[in-house]
Amino acid sequence: MIPTDASVAFYLAPILLVPFVFATVRLLVQRSEMTRKIAGYREQNLRYEKVVQDRNVTVETDQAKSKQEMNRISSQLVQLKDFARKLGASADEHEIFAIIHDHAVAILDVERSAFLEMSQDGSGDTLVIGVPPRGWTVAEMTSAIKKRPHPFETVIRERRIYVRIRPRDGGAYTPLASQDTLEAAYIQPIIHGDQFFGMLILSEPKRADVRQASAIFSILGDLGGIALENAAFVRRIREQAVRDGLTGLYNHRYFQDYLTRALVEAPIVTLLLADIDHFKKFNDTHGHQTGDAVLRKVAEVAAQVVQEHAGKIPDMALLARYGGEEFVVVLPGLSEPEGAALAELLRARVESTPLEYENQVHRITLSIGVAAGARGDDKSALIKRSDEALYESKQEGRNRVTISSRDAASCDGAMRMSRPAALVLSA
Ligand code: GH3
Ligand code: MG
Ligand code: MG
Repeated sequence: MIPTDASVAFYLAPILLVPFVFATVRLLVQRSEMTRKIAGYREQNLRYEKVVQDRNVTVETDQAKSKQEMNRISSQLVQLKDFARKLGASADEHEIFAIIHDHAVAILDVERSAFLEMSQDGSGDTLVIGVPPRGWTVAEMTSAIKKRPHPFETVIRERRIYVRIRPRDGGAYTPLASQDTLEAAYIQPIIHGDQFFGMLILSEPKRADVRQASAIFSILGDLGGIALENAAFVRRIREQAVRDGLTGLYNHRYFQDYLTRALVEAPIVTLLLADIDHFKKFNDTHGHQTGDAVLRKVAEVAAQVVQEHAGKIPDMALLARYGGEEFVVVLPGLSEPEGAALAELLRARVESTPLEYENQVHRITLSIGVAAGARGDDKSALIKRSDEALYESKQEGRNRVTISSRDAASCDGAMRMSRPAALVLSA
């Protein structure tokens, strides 16, 4: 049978269709692969998007944290600037201690704090409580200091400071032996040059890490030390301006100012003017150096007597060197007989005190004049009256106390005292 065209086509068609079918199948396979790949890419894309999103969130959080940190640092800088400004404006040591303490507490945000000052009262190497402990008791603070090793221990060792802590108003000492270790989060000694002013004690700061806290501490310590050194210098200069170089007592100018103030503030002021008897002869006999030493000793004895009776004097008594071998005591709030009684105690103490210098014992006596003035009285007139009374003591034979005769009205008749009988102030 001869194939017809139709039958050829019938048989050839499938053969011709095979590549087409293959191509179609390949296309289909390729398409599905493409679809899968696209899905994969999409998925990956989503993952990338998520990663990018997460990174953005982290960056934003980091940025927020940095911003917070920057704000904190800038607020600390502002506080440090305020600290420096306040230090510069103060020349008072106690005030400076308080400024150092308050700024450390505010900048570092600590719960417990205290400031211990090196005692200025000559009672040895003692730390007194300058800024009272905040958030803990003195005992808690002391035991905290004792527990942890700290540079302060070195301060104690190197400077041979045997530290005792006591409240500023006296009270019991708490000894801290130099071998004790110390504990508190921070103890910053405030030192400038070779001077140790005190130390700041703080518990763990809330708002700073250790490095930052140490940096802030050293700024507070350094600036504080310089300010304290300046304040101490100003104090010494002021002190020298009002003190007599030989005896260390207040000088004539300070006495004048004090008496002026006393006559404004006190209802009554009694004045004692004391003069060493025959001092020219003493100098001629023993030499001026011995004379100087005796003047210093008389000043010490007089200071002791005034100090012993300070509790019985309503306002602060003032002992000064009037000039030469003359001393003056201002007694605000004390009546004339009371002043005269104190004068008699002074006279008797000087008379009975052996004054030793270069292995030789000397004795000297005082003549004293006493006068009282009421509030608003003329200062020069009061000094003149006490001088006249002193002159009378000299005239009557020296080594005695005389009340001004012009004060007759206030002491019931023209009473003269050549050894007052009633020692109102005797202990
Ligand atoms: P009277 O009992 O009358 O007070 O006699 P007096 O010798 O103390 O008085 P006078 O005023 O004649 O002499 C005071 C002497 O005090 C003269 C001076 O040598 C001495 N004097 C004054 N100031 C000082 C001083 O700073 N050091 C020494 N060593 N002597 C002084
Ligand atoms: Mg004299
Ligand atoms: Mg004299």
